[in-house]
Amino acid sequence: MPIALPQLSRREFLKRAALAGAAVAFAPASQAALFGKSRDAHTFAFFSDTHIAADTAATHLDCNMAEHLAAAVNEVVAWPVKPGAIIVNGDLAFQDGLPADYATYGKIIQPLRALAPMHLTLGNHDQRQNFWNAFPHDTQKQKSVPQKQAGLFGASHANWFLLDSLVTTNSAPGELGTAQLDWLARELAFHNRRPAIIVCHHNPQFGPVTTGLRDTSAFMDLLARKPNVKAVVYGHTHDWHITQHESGIQLINLPPTAYPFHNKRPCGWVRCTLAKDGAEFELRCLDQSHPQHGEKQTLKWRKD
Ligand SMILES: [Zn+2]
Repeated sequence: MPIALPQLSRREFLKRAALAGAAVAFAPASQAALFGKSRDAHTFAFFSDTHIAADTAATHLDCNMAEHLAAAVNEVVAWPVKPGAIIVNGDLAFQDGLPADYATYGKIIQPLRALAPMHLTLGNHDQRQNFWNAFPHDTQKQKSVPQKQAGLFGASHANWFLLDSLVTTNSAPGELGTAQLDWLARELAFHNRRPAIIVCHHNPQFGPVTTGLRDTSAFMDLLARKPNVKAVVYGHTHDWHITQHESGIQLINLPPTAYPFHNKRPCGWVRCTLAKDGAEFELRCLDQSHPQHGEKQTLKWRKD
């Protein structure tokens, strides 16, 4: 499985915060935001492309990535309901997936740990072994595909399939590989009664593949043949937009949470609320004066 971090109990969360010397940051008001609200099991929060360096002062295009991630964390903590889960779609680490990058990352996301389970996938700036070693207390490791980490978890209206498209750390293109695609085909056939949403870091790239998913054709051909596949969610391009594949599958490109490629493009997180026959995706910009802040799209799933 991809790394799955279980939600922490209030007691465990406060114990860890105290050990980390962070108790002062969790005043009663913050604790109410963390513990005193109900859960909307249909809602999911997406983060992607945070690129956190060991040094919290690191910047890119005048953006401080650690501050950006902390701002997104605070927004999700302040959200009126707890999400069913939080999905982080790759490129957690700055560039080379160093152990110290993940240590900083783990500290910044700590408040989320009290809100909901977290699922973390790998991007091309992550390093597989360091990533696995980064959460030694609570990772559930199940390597269903050799050298790749793929898995799925269920929600009431869909199954989420989390894939691993990392090939070489700090090299742009990605690949799922035959073994993982075979695994996916088997699992999709087994779980064919419920809508499937596929999550992977790299973008399907149609035409010549330069930086995207090298096996886009094999991947999309497989998904198109499985009518229960309704959407693919990816990051990597740091460019928020939603399009539709010719098969009717929705293609959701997440924005970067913390590391913009261009000054004017939005950074932030995405709320997804599932319905029986579709989902609503909402862009939550860190800069709330950004013209795209709050942009919502209601997607209808293709027919079975
Ligand atoms: Zn990235």
